[in-house]
This record gives sequence, C-alpha cells and structure tokens, in this order.
Amino acid sequence: MLSAKKSPLFAAGTDTIQKAIEEAIAYARPFLGQGAPADYIPELAKANPDHLAVCVATLEHGLCCCGDCHQKFTLQSISKVISLILAVEDHGVDAVFEKVGMEPTGDPFNSILRLESASSKPSNPMINAGAIVVTSMIKGSSGEERFQRLLDLLRRLCGNDALGYSEETFRSEQNTGDKNRALSYMMRSGGIISGDVEEHLECYFKFCSALVDCTDIARLGAVLANDGYSPQTGECMVPLEVLKIVRSLMVTCGMYDFSGEFAALVGLPSKSGVGGGIVSVVPNTMGIGVFGPALDGRGNSVGGVKILEYLSRNYGLSIF
Ligand code: GLN
Repeated sequence: MLSAKKSPLFAAGTDTIQKAIEEAIAYARPFLGQGAPADYIPELAKANPDHLAVCVATLEHGLCCCGDCHQKFTLQSISKVISLILAVEDHGVDAVFEKVGMEPTGDPFNSILRLESASSKPSNPMINAGAIVVTSMIKGSSGEERFQRLLDLLRRLCGNDALGYSEETFRSEQNTGDKNRALSYMMRSGGIISGDVEEHLECYFKFCSALVDCTDIARLGAVLANDGYSPQTGECMVPLEVLKIVRSLMVTCGMYDFSGEFAALVGLPSKSGVGGGIVSVVPNTMGIGVFGPALDGRGNSVGGVKILEYLSRNYGLSIF
C-alpha cells in the first residue's frame, strides 16, 4: 500500500475542497490557448477548446465539482486502465505481461518504432500498441461481447450504469485509424496478437469512444485511490495485486512521453486520453477527474495538467 500520508485537502471539508478546485480552474484557464483539440480523429476536432472541468471524489466527503463537469467526452486512452484490469482478471498477471512489457518508452503514444524489434512486444499497456494487445486478450465470443464486458466494468468502476459510447467518434476513428491498424498487423506478424485484427480494433475503438464526464472518471479514480474497493459499497473491484501494477504503470507510462516530467511536477498515478480527460489518483484520499479538450503536442490536456499541477503544488498531493 502506498503511504497514507494525508493531504490537508483530505482533512478539509467540502468548502475547502470546493475553494481549492475553483482556484485551480482560475489558474489553469489562461493556458488553454496553448493547446488545441485532437484532430487526427476528425470527430474529436469538434470539441470546444474552452471547456474546462475538475471533479474531486474524496473517500470521505463525496463529490466536489467545478466548471463543465457534466460535459460528456470520450474516454480514449483512459480506457487502457480498464482494459488492463479486465485482461488480468481474465488471464492473470503473468499471461498478460508475456505479451506486453512494463517499461515506459519516452515515445509518442501511437509510435510504431519499438515494434521493429525481434519480438514485436509492445513496451507497456498504456500506449496504443500495448492496449490493442490487451484488448485482443479480453475473453468473449465476439468483439461485441468483449466490448460489452469492458463497458460493464467501466460502469461498475464509475458507479454509473447509464454509460454508453459515441457511435460518431467510433466510426470516425474506425475510418481514419490506419496507424493503429499498422501497429496491429505488425504485432500479428510478430506473433504477439492472433485472430481477426479488424475485430480487435473494433473493440478497441469502441471502448476508446465510451462517453463519460468528469464525475465518472473522478469516481473511477476514487476506487483506485481506495486500494480497489468501492468507497460507497466497500466491494472489492480490483484485487490489490492488480491495482499495484495499474497504479505504478499509471505513474511511469500514464501520460505518454510526458510521464517523467508529470511525475516530478504532479506526482500522482494518472492516465490521460486525447478526448481531454485525465484521471488522477491520490492514494487513500481521493480520485480527481479533469477535462479540457485543448491538448498539448503529446496529447495531454493543457488545462487538465495545469489544474493537477496547481492542486498538487498547493495542497501537497504528490506521492513522492
Ligand atoms: N483512440 C485513440 C488512439 O488510438 C486513443 C489515444 C489516446 O487517447 N492517446 O489513437
């Protein structure tokens, strides 16, 4: 278990938390012009770059929200956390990590570079190649059944049975996702994945298109903060052995080729997605969901990173 040194925000009541997140939004907003929504998936380019939101789900006080908290966005790479949890539940740690590594790359999230090795084994499950392998391992008799199992787990972790996905974003990525196709065929030729590549990709693209808002991902973060137990029901949702791997890979690889700097500046297990969301975990304290579709060059939300930097610096949230 990570240290339970609690931040002053934990002891504080909702008024203090609310004030802190309002300050964080005010701090972050002027930076939004430095980024732009992703456009390599055409549907994502329609996002409003001025949207900005933060939601904190504490283990004791429930939710505090500020900004566009109920604005829906697609999960994108945040889905990689859930896919990993389900694949490990299906096959165990050893079988999954036979096919995917645990090392950060320092390369962009969709890089093909390192697949040009003898094994074609992707470096970690938080980059596209790794997540495609992980998705291909999910049990189910069809791509659709595998997608439904992933969606069910997402719903349980977010405590929201109504979650669905965006057909428009899914189609948009399916029509343009040739880089992910290239990664997948490279890995099939290397024997890392088998079966119908298009079916694996359909499941991967659909799950990336799952629609959430900031409150959903804050609740997901709270389960990961609470050692895998639901803060509401006390149910164990992620076994501790798996949770430790997930949280450490979020630290080392969750923000792509910004993960090292982010660990130094913010110091929280986090996962971002090109839909503009970031989920962050303050162990034993809270989950934080941030959203801002204006992205930096590495695919991380500009406003989201600034909000997390502000909260971590001013309220001592870093785990390090
Ligand atoms: N669906 C996106 C892709 O595969 C996810 C990438 C991301 O969020 N970084 O390119």
